[in-house]
This record gives sequence, structure tokens and C-alpha cells, in this order.
Amino acid sequence: MENTDILIIGAGAAGLMAARTLAKAGKKVAVLEARDRIGGRIHTIGYGMPQQPLELGAEFIHGDLPLTKSLLDEAGIAYHHAGASMWRYEDGVFKENETFVEHWDYFLQKLDELEQDMSINSFLLKEFKGEKYLRLRDFVRKYVAGYDNADPKKASAFSLRREWQPENEGAQYRIEGGYIGLVKFLADELVAAGCKICLNAVAKQILWQQNQVKIITNAGCTYTGKQLVVALPLGVLKVNAGDSGAINFQPPIAEHANAINISGFGAVIKILLQFTEAFWEDEQMQKLAGKAICNMGYLFSDEEIPTWWTQAPQHTHLLTGWIGGPEAAEKAATSDTEILRESLQSLANIFNRDVQELKQKLVSWHVINWTADEFTRGSYAYDTIDANEARLVLCKPIQDAIFFAGEYLYSGTAMGTVEAALTSGFKVAEQMIRDKTL
Ligand SMILES: Cc1cc2nc3c(=O)[nH]c(=O)nc-3n(C[C@H](O)[C@H](O)[C@H](O)COP(=O)(O)OP(=O)(O)OC[C@H]3O[C@@H](n4cnc5c(N)ncnc54)[C@H](O)[C@@H]3O)c2cc1C
Repeated sequence: MENTDILIIGAGAAGLMAARTLAKAGKKVAVLEARDRIGGRIHTIGYGMPQQPLELGAEFIHGDLPLTKSLLDEAGIAYHHAGASMWRYEDGVFKENETFVEHWDYFLQKLDELEQDMSINSFLLKEFKGEKYLRLRDFVRKYVAGYDNADPKKASAFSLRREWQPENEGAQYRIEGGYIGLVKFLADELVAAGCKICLNAVAKQILWQQNQVKIITNAGCTYTGKQLVVALPLGVLKVNAGDSGAINFQPPIAEHANAINISGFGAVIKILLQFTEAFWEDEQMQKLAGKAICNMGYLFSDEEIPTWWTQAPQHTHLLTGWIGGPEAAEKAATSDTEILRESLQSLANIFNRDVQELKQKLVSWHVINWTADEFTRGSYAYDTIDANEARLVLCKPIQDAIFFAGEYLYSGTAMGTVEAALTSGFKVAEQMIRDKTL
């Protein structure tokens, strides 16, 4: 039995940022984490080793994001431009840095004129009917599924319009040594300020009333505090009461549970393949592409595993594969070895190689099916038509006892990112400090 001022469930970026801010303000804080590691969807392996670290979860800083960058500067952690060229492979042809689809500018213009929000799929069906726009419809759906990990039938057209404004096309960066360096910095700081992190603590039941919260874990341990920050992924919060992995609130929190249900949470599978050589830069590839390839960043295709990227501008032997949205959700129960088989087949089709050749060149592999992961159950949030309404509810504390934090509560243009999680954690802590309820 532990007794503290504030309990936080979830040691991801949001939970740790909230804990650090509260601990620095003199609060007695304990963070409960289900896994045997901190970081949540930030999961770097090989941190501190001589070889290149591998990012199994978050990898990029998507733009000049203020909180992430200021924390990295404070921690003295360097980050580097991850700028690289975009390629598309289609019908046996490689194209570089082109507008990949016809009618795109007209599509953006019509989206700009839209007055009433609707799903992006409904918008396509309303405004871009018929054979003429078949490829455009397919392209937009795949983009929304791939980049936003969203279901086009649920994703808000207004939200995508905001995301696709040209001013949001910022630079991308990778963090030297991996994202986990930032997480470790936060953890070291909050421990130094007297906060505890309890690993392998799977919260199962939350018994609460004003000024008193009790958490019971899977192992039957009890933690008590005066206030609680729930910093869990939406996927975990969406599990229906009574189903395995559900968090049971007593008394129930009906209004918040409804807001959680109407929020969008995507699906993703990330694949890391390390080869003996960068065959995508070799002579055979130059013949296929019609020119030397030395800075291929992203490669989009219509293969089973459609999206791939390298570590450009760094030259390494690592290829990262990505499948998001409804297609990834459908593969939640597919075995990792089957995903590996599909990955190699996709690469063999794109690069016109024999699968056996690729197998021989494969040194190591990781398939991370985040949708099947019991402590995430998806990828990151996307806006449904009801998202703003849901966020308003979820940002309201429940009787000053229960607060929520997580990437899904952020409403700026860096949705679904580490920046979003850090911002949410910071904001909730500031709110608790300001309200002085303790
Ligand atoms: C494959 C992938 C790639 C991504 N790429 C990028 C990227 O390049 N750039 C970027 O900025 N963002 C990226 N993101 C998004 C980013 O990782 C997340 O937005 C961010 O890390 C979420 O932080 P969080 O604290 O809200 O949630 P989480 O990191 O998920 O933290 C929640 C914590 O709660 C814990 N937990 C779950 N259930 C329980 C329980 N019952 N009891 C106790 N603890 C529990 C989890 O183990 C986890 O540690 C990516 C995400 C994925 C999945």
C-alpha cells in the first residue's frame, strides 16, 4: 500500500511530463506503469550502444515543435534533420518528388470551400464521384490511412484540411541516440524531485471519490492518493467494461467514457528490417529508377506493405516498413512471421528482386504490431467529426479527483505526436497546480 498526493497511471511522454512538472512544484507523486519499461509508444532499442539505435515506436520530430525542442535543449540532446526525397513506385515506374496524383490541387480547393464537416470519405463520395476521380479517391484514402492511421469513413474533413495547410509542412528531425533519451531525461528529473515510478503495475480498478483515489493492480497491490492523472492510451481506455484489459472506474465515469468512445484512435504495424547492404541504392536499382539513388527517404507503393523509408540522410542498411489505418487493424491478429513474409514480398515486388535473395540479405527484423499490444491497442489519435466535443469533456477534471492526459487531448497541428503528449501532460499538471486543490 502506497500513499501519495497524486497518482499517475502511465509512464509515457504525457504521464512523465505531468509527473515531472508536479514533482518540481513540490507534489508527492507516484507513477504506475504496466510494462517493465518507461516510454510507452516511445521505444528505442540499442540506446547507448555503439550501433545505431532502433525506434520501434516514435521516430521523428514532425516540425519545429516548441516543447519537444526546448526539452531536448534543456537535456543537451542533439537532433538532426531527417530531410530526404519522396518516391513513389507504381506500375513498374519509380517517380521522385512529384505531385503523386492528378486533381490534387482541385481537391484541396474543394476541401477549402467545405462549410459543414463530414468524414473525408463522405466528402470524396459527394464531390469526387465517378471513374475520373477513382485514383484521387484511392490516393486520399490511402494517405489518410497511412499517415494519420485513420479510418477515412470516420476521419474529419475539417481536421485534415487544417493538417494539409502548406505552412504545416515543416522540417523533420531525428534525435541522436533515439527518442528514449528524452524520456530518460524526464524520468531522471522526476525521480530527483522525489517522485516514484512503479513498473509492472497494471492498473485494473480505480475506486474514487473527492479527495481520495485508490488503484488496485492486476497483482492485487493497492495505491492510494488524493488525485489521479489517467495518462493511458485511448486504445486501452476504449476497452469495454468486463472485457480483458478494461480499467474499471467505481463509480463509473459515464460522460467521459462516452467521449472516449467517440474519439478516433488509429492502427499501425511498424516493421524494421536490417540488411547486409543497402540494395535500394545499388546499380540494379539505378537502372530501374533511371538515375542514381543516394538519398531515398520515403517510398510509397500499392503493395501489401505500402510505405517504406530509409534512415536518409544517414546511409544505413535499415529499411522501415509501415502499414496504417483499417488495413493495419485487419492485421491485428496476423502473426509477426506472416507480416515479415508480406514485407519481403512487397520489397521483392517493388525492387524487382527474388524473395530468396532478400531473405539471404536479411540480418535481423522486428515487427511491432502496436494494435495487438495490450498496453496500447492502436497507434495514435485522429480527429473524428465529434473530436472537439469529446476533447472538451475529457479536459474537464472529474470532481477534482480524476484528470486525463495523453496525446489525444491535444488539438493543435501536431496531433498524435510526442509533442502532443508532452503538451497535454504539462497542461494538466499546470491546471492541478493552479487549482491548488491539494
Ligand atoms: C509506431 C508509432 C510511430 C510513431 N511515430 C511518431 C513519430 O515519429 N513522432 C511523433 O512525435 N510521434 C510518433 N508516434 C506517436 C507518439 O509515440 C505518441 O503520440 C506518444 O508517445 C504518446 O504518449 P502518451 O504518453 O500519450 O501515451 P503512451 O506512450 O502510450 O503512454 C501510456 C502508458 O500507459 C501504460 N499503460 C497502458 N495500460 C496500462 C495499465 N492498465 N496500467 C498502467 N499502465 C498502463 C503504457 O504501457 C504506456 O507506457 C508514433 C506512435 C506509434 C505507435
